[in-house]
Amino acid sequence: MNTPLEHLYRLQDRIRFVEARERQRDTIPAELVEVDREYQEKVDAVARLKKRCAEAEVERRRAHAELAEHRERLRKYQAQLRNVQNSREYGAVLNEIDGVEKLVRAAEDRMSNLDEEIDQTSKELVSREEILPLETEQHEERLKDWRSAQRAINDELASAQEEIGRLQASMHPRDRSEFQRLMEKKGGLAIALVVGGSCSACHVKVRPAAVQALKAGREITYCDSCKRILYYDMQRS
Ligand SMILES: [Zn+2]
Repeated sequence: MNTPLEHLYRLQDRIRFVEARERQRDTIPAELVEVDREYQEKVDAVARLKKRCAEAEVERRRAHAELAEHRERLRKYQAQLRNVQNSREYGAVLNEIDGVEKLVRAAEDRMSNLDEEIDQTSKELVSREEILPLETEQHEERLKDWRSAQRAINDELASAQEEIGRLQASMHPRDRSEFQRLMEKKGGLAIALVVGGSCSACHVKVRPAAVQALKAGREITYCDSCKRILYYDMQRS
């Protein structure tokens, strides 16, 4: 690294490289999208069934507790029935019993529905869980080339990130945050190369005096139009 501007340009280049490569790494190739979706559905189905089993168990415990409560009340009313003093009281207690019996039946129905659901859900879960490891293996096999491409990208990223760290560490904190702000403000392109006498970001001609200043190096020159820092590459321009 020679001038501070070359330093910054390299930093921007590495940051943009990392962003582009990360996008590439995280975007599944078109030909694998459908295959991956199908596999994800299988994984999701297992998770969904597990969740439903756990929920149904909770509901079943609740229904069981309610049932016990209703049965207890039923026993109390039945005991009261034996001690009633007159037909009016008798009728009233019978009425209560009738109401509680309905609650008992409803709770029993709910329990049996839940029992059935838990039974079916766990059977389906077991059968899906049984085949999932094989499906995972097959899926990884189909994704093998893609995975190795991802690993290669990760290696590239590691060395680029290391370089970014080094470049940033050697900058003054104020310059670093200023550069960071400009990167954010200018959509990730703070420094624009001058190509054929024009700013390569906005394509507006750079004043000849500014080109001369750039060629002389050392001082920071901004594009009149897009306000990016201009960079003149002696080898390329
Ligand atoms: Zn410009």
